[in-house]
Amino acid sequence: MADELGGRVARHAVVIGGSLAGLLAARVLAEHAERVTVVERDRFPEGQEARPGVPQGRHLHVLIAGGQQALDELLPGFMAELGELGAPKVGVPEDMVQWQNGQWFRRTPATAHFYTGPRPQLEWLVRQRVLADPRIELVEGTETVGLTGDSSRVRGVRLRERGAGADKETRTLEADLVVDASGRSTKAADWLAGIGAEAPHEETLDTGLAYATRVYRSPADVPGTDAIGYYVVPSPDQVYGGVVLPLGDGRHLVTLSGLRGDEPPTDEGAFEDYAKRLPHPVVSDWLARAEPDSPVYGFRKTSNIRRRYDRPGRRPAGFLATGDALCAFNPIYGQGMAVAALTAVALRRALTDPKRTPTTRQVQRALLDASKQAWDISAGADKKMPGATGDAARPGPADKAVGWYLRRVQERAAGDPVVGAPFRAALTLTAPLTALFAPSVARAVLFGPVHGTPAEPPLSRN
Ligand SMILES: Cc1cc2nc3c(=O)[nH]c(=O)nc-3n(C[C@H](O)[C@H](O)[C@H](O)COP(=O)(O)OP(=O)(O)OC[C@H]3O[C@@H](n4cnc5c(N)ncnc54)[C@H](O)[C@@H]3O)c2cc1C
Repeated sequence: MADELGGRVARHAVVIGGSLAGLLAARVLAEHAERVTVVERDRFPEGQEARPGVPQGRHLHVLIAGGQQALDELLPGFMAELGELGAPKVGVPEDMVQWQNGQWFRRTPATAHFYTGPRPQLEWLVRQRVLADPRIELVEGTETVGLTGDSSRVRGVRLRERGAGADKETRTLEADLVVDASGRSTKAADWLAGIGAEAPHEETLDTGLAYATRVYRSPADVPGTDAIGYYVVPSPDQVYGGVVLPLGDGRHLVTLSGLRGDEPPTDEGAFEDYAKRLPHPVVSDWLARAEPDSPVYGFRKTSNIRRRYDRPGRRPAGFLATGDALCAFNPIYGQGMAVAALTAVALRRALTDPKRTPTTRQVQRALLDASKQAWDISAGADKKMPGATGDAARPGPADKAVGWYLRRVQERAAGDPVVGAPFRAALTLTAPLTALFAPSVARAVLFGPVHGTPAEPPLSRN
């Protein structure tokens, strides 16, 4: 069969991009191919520093529970090792002072945990674990500039050394399978056009959300709270976001967010003023007592983008997309790393399906399915944001009824653990969205009262 993933990936697989999605895909492919080559444009730093190819790495990254489980499945013992490196573990709602939809969350016992800490630390640990596998080779400082083959089958990639001018010759690396993990700005559409194939349709939804992030040291005598962090969640009625979370080394990362036309500034003086737009001074007060320890970094590429490789089109066998190159999310929901890991788990399951040798299209569909819940959450919420643009921003037939129900879920999630626990499980990708419609939850959502929530930020647990 022309489209079959020959011999379940066969001799040589090439992965474009050595960040989380690429490394985790390589980890899985090494179980099937004779050898795997990861081609990365950057040269990796020795330690746990940020790097140019992952500019979002300077911004707040949390690893939600669905991602933790998937990482442990792919790299046994991973979460324990991350904890040993010092990544703080935060229980929700217990450990956070959280404001959302006009309410402070009650700090009831945690039903979900996320890990925070520097994103480069997490990526470094994944890199150490994955590249220890002798079946995986790394080609650093090298950019993929195209594919070889034709519209029916990919035969390899064209590479150019980084820093070499556009006129510098390229070399070819042959492969039976090529996986695009080059992130949300992938050039796959051009690469496919270059071999006579069709680019996938790009479904988009852009709220114009922008981040600005700065590291702070908080003096030991800061009065205040037994909480580990603060989180002011944006919503259609209140579009500003603010998060303060520990890095695990005595410092905190502070991310502020706002929408198109009123983005948070990267100007050092103006950053702290911007925090005053949040609906409560709790973040601003914290900042007034803390010491800045870095410049302010901005980030504006936050649209939801889903590349519909599952739809018909003239596309070659032996080419897959994963991670942000397949489906990128508004980062405010904290899903992308988790989905990169869940997608690698889906890749493993598709390739080990005992019932059939899968085609490229079947595997690609399995990878897209692994991102569906995160997309539904992210795009579903972003549709309601003022000024959202893109074809996925158009209302669907069920939006009104679902929106009505979810508003009731949110009103109750802050004060009622019966609703809050499944709400968090769905958001952290450990339970399906249908968990919100289970009988006990539906009863509380449809007929139960809205429980009281604290009038002021709950700075202590009781
Ligand atoms: C501001 C921000 C905050 C975020 N916060 C969170 C969060 O809290 N929680 C969470 O789970 N996710 C978060 N994410 C998402 C997360 O960063 C990504 O989903 C995750 O990094 C997976 O990305 P990836 O490996 O697909 O791509 P990336 O991490 O973007 O990596 C792409 C890699 O490909 C390389 N590359 C690119 N082009 C080429 C080429 N032509 N040839 C060779 N190599 C190439 C790049 O150098 C890079 O190493 C956030 C994203 C942003 C933007």
